[in-house]
Amino acid sequence: MATVVEKSLTELVRINSVNPDLQADGAGENGVGNWVERFCDANGIEHRREPVMGGRSNVFAWLPGREPDRKLLFVAHMDTVPIVGYKGDPFRGERAGDRLYGRGSCDTKASLAAMLQALVQVKKEKPKSTVIVAGSVDEENLKSGAKVMAKAGIKYDGCVAGEPTDLELVVAHKGSVRWCVETKGVACHSSKPHLGHNAIVDMARVITAIEEMTEKFKSRVHPLVGQPTLTMSVIKGGVEMTIVPDHCMIQIDRRLSPGETPKQGLAEVEDVLEMLRKKYPKMNVRSVLPAREDPPLNDSSKERIAEVAAKACAEVANTGKFTGVPYGTDCSQLNLAGIPCVVLGPGSINQAHTVDEFVELAQVEKAVDIYRRIMLSF
Ligand SMILES: [Zn+2]
Repeated sequence: MATVVEKSLTELVRINSVNPDLQADGAGENGVGNWVERFCDANGIEHRREPVMGGRSNVFAWLPGREPDRKLLFVAHMDTVPIVGYKGDPFRGERAGDRLYGRGSCDTKASLAAMLQALVQVKKEKPKSTVIVAGSVDEENLKSGAKVMAKAGIKYDGCVAGEPTDLELVVAHKGSVRWCVETKGVACHSSKPHLGHNAIVDMARVITAIEEMTEKFKSRVHPLVGQPTLTMSVIKGGVEMTIVPDHCMIQIDRRLSPGETPKQGLAEVEDVLEMLRKKYPKMNVRSVLPAREDPPLNDSSKERIAEVAAKACAEVANTGKFTGVPYGTDCSQLNLAGIPCVVLGPGSINQAHTVDEFVELAQVEKAVDIYRRIMLSF
């Protein structure tokens, strides 16, 4: 017999909510938003939508608390990554053994289903804080939903973001700043290369100098997430075998440790470029901005939300040790707005974004209990 949360999760997985900015025919989050509203109506829970962009909306469900000024936010994104290459029907939502399969099952509809179920369970007990469960849009791409939530200026006293952490408690994660650097040269026939200026040769100098700069990251090991990284992940340049290339570009993915800002990540590379401009006066190099910025989740282990969540994790799942992860979440934006955040949810990140995504149902049941305890004791 399927439990209530399994039934919810199965229904959610069967709704296509592929992020339309990542896959052109992705259905977006509205089907999930509608489901959340129906769920709330059926359970006597208040709800509202918040428009974000292009007809896509965050959804909020809430229970008023005894202390109206105290607010505890639970957030789980409603979008999923694309289904290209998925093995079988990504929306089948079928159970096999103790697992439920389908796109979004672990990332992160299991968290959403468990949060809503916990909200229903605490309804009679009137929690101290007003508890809000939010479904956000666009986490898998630009985190536009979380950005709008953060900009609304509501003072949340704590936030739990649901992502597949295996019920481990994440109190810090890396951020990122991503952008392009380009060099411009002068094209000419390669039989007389001295008449031109080679943009690829300049870029080779840029790449080497940036790589050398990253040596200093070794001394910046963060106890929870390790050292920052910088990957030059794409290079494009040149036109033809016999033409001196007049353009070259690289893409940079700089992962920020807690405490670092996107601005700092950019500035360190800018310093390298400035040094090169002085050394090679003919070099025409620049960063193509604006960069795509996702700040890190700064260590929240001293916050009350971390303390309360650690206790609930320990009681239910024998987890709750403070950990850090290298990937980003909606907390990038929410923490930037001053909201103390932790990341905690059922399922493993190893199954997220895979072609046979699944979640262990036993973890989903435990997540309901953990979320319920946090709602009641925050
Ligand atoms: Zn996710």
